[in-house]
Amino acid sequence: MDKTKYTIERRYITKRSNTRPGTCLKTGTPAFFVAHDSGNPGATADNHFDYFNGLTDRSASAQVFIDDTKILEIIPTGTGPDPAEKAWHVLYNVTTDNDQFGYDANDAALGVELCYGGKITFSEAYKRFVWYLAYCCDRWGKNPSTHIASHKQLDPARKRDCEQALAVGGKTLKELINDVAAELAATVTPPDFVPLPDGIAQALIDNYVSPAWFAAQKVGDEVGKTHFHNLANNLRMAAGIPLTPGAPAATLTKLPKSNAQEIIFRWLSPAWFKAKAAGDKTAMQHYNNLANHLRRAAGIPEE
Ligand SMILES: [Zn+2]
Repeated sequence: MDKTKYTIERRYITKRSNTRPGTCLKTGTPAFFVAHDSGNPGATADNHFDYFNGLTDRSASAQVFIDDTKILEIIPTGTGPDPAEKAWHVLYNVTTDNDQFGYDANDAALGVELCYGGKITFSEAYKRFVWYLAYCCDRWGKNPSTHIASHKQLDPARKRDCEQALAVGGKTLKELINDVAAELAATVTPPDFVPLPDGIAQALIDNYVSPAWFAAQKVGDEVGKTHFHNLANNLRMAAGIPLTPGAPAATLTKLPKSNAQEIIFRWLSPAWFKAKAAGDKTAMQHYNNLANHLRRAAGIPEE
């Protein structure tokens, strides 16, 4: 599975006996997973953090809340550096969990809550819910078809989650389990290009692309300006560096083949021939290396 597809955020509620008692799971690491929904349409993961961080009049909580933009652990689960702690997400007097798993869910399972309804985009929240459950199965060697139970399955007399939230998006519990299994089995295809080293991207921009942009500006060549602007940004994306100073790093993207060829033919080849004419082997090697960095970043064969 692709373990880096989403990020897991960890922001823990304050320890309090009715929400986060601070005690570890009896099993150390999670033995199974309970699929819940929040039962609170429109409320986001952050809304649930606030709610459970302030809850004082009853015992309730779960470790994880997932909406269409984030996966938020509000009580440690063991996916990060902190060991898994108990939460109060299934009543102790139900017996299905004991029969099926040998433990009360609160003592051995993670409660994973799907946020839904209101402005929450179901498909995005669902994808994260599926991925997180697969991530947990992968981490602790569990089988989705035997180690994920819905709250309704454990407490059918009182509960309808997470089936009621899945129904909002036209999904069933069976489909959820199948989707988790598929996520777990998905093979990650390695990228067919090698990122451009940061320094190389910057040097190409400083030495060639920027001067060409300024030359275009000088003669009022708007098409040229746009072209060199895009070329510089494609080099930045091929290195995964920010597009503008101080911005977050750009998503690493394969360099368009035409960009690699253009830089080679416009600047690097002439420089290589000049070095050759001067008998400067070091410079020849340098331009050849630069060209090969570009070829690898564009996924084309080296020369
Ligand atoms: Zn529930």
